Amino acid sequence: MVGHMEYRNEKARQRYDAVVAVAPEVVVGLDFDGTLSPIVDDPRQALIHPEAPETLGALAAEVQAVVVITGRPARQVVELGHLEQLADSLPDGARLSVMGQYGHERWDSSSREFSSPEPPPGLQAFRDELPALLAAQDASDALVEEKGLAVAVHTRGLPHAKQTFLRLEDTLEEAADRHGLTLEPGRLVLEVRAPGMHKGLAVRAAIEEHHGRGVVFVGDDLGDLEAFEAVRSLRIGGLPALLVCSSSDEQEALAGLADVVVPGPSGVVELLTTFIADVAAAH
Ligand SMILES: [Mg+2]
Repeated sequence: MVGHMEYRNEKARQRYDAVVAVAPEVVVGLDFDGTLSPIVDDPRQALIHPEAPETLGALAAEVQAVVVITGRPARQVVELGHLEQLADSLPDGARLSVMGQYGHERWDSSSREFSSPEPPPGLQAFRDELPALLAAQDASDALVEEKGLAVAVHTRGLPHAKQTFLRLEDTLEEAADRHGLTLEPGRLVLEVRAPGMHKGLAVRAAIEEHHGRGVVFVGDDLGDLEAFEAVRSLRIGGLPALLVCSSSDEQEALAGLADVVVPGPSGVVELLTTFIADVAAAH
């Protein structure tokens, strides 16, 4: 077994061993930004960690399914993650998929097709109002990211990124409410999107669809909290489950809930590599 991994306690080590034991039937859910790719100033440049695609391929060969569960559009993650190329090299039967925009959008390595619902009603009206909302909070220079089913406002890169984020949070939440939308805060990003879907529902759907008999979930940010909660409640119901936090100075919320805390995407790759080796040794 692994020597250098930081478990929170003995229980966490037992949870790790329990998912290794059922690994061929485990669904591994992974967030993208801050988990598989380092956070960068321009979200369009958030390329996957260089060793992650190969690691995900090796992982997919050992477990039931690997599912990237992200707030990003599925298409972006497939591009930033080089997942088309990875799909070409997957062994027969290995399953890799993406649940984009918190589960609204889908892509998988066998069909290679994208599916996406219509944008939520109210999003266009919110979009039209946004420039005035930003101007009123002295945040006209914030990067506005168009996501199709959502709009994200990034304050990273602004002179007073955190203060601007806090000023905008109330304003955008109020506007989202008025338009029947929901606000999702993240690491210096505020996203406005359709209500009714979150990563907790997505991870449950992934487990159900793949008939998972165990789960590993890895995340770094507030948008992953619902997935952590869902996995914790499935574990109470008897499902072997491991929660991993990709840690950062910017967000501490998940670390206390995780069984294993690793230092960012390079730590995630290292953990998965160890997991793959332990699974290969055990099966
Ligand atoms: Mg993230």
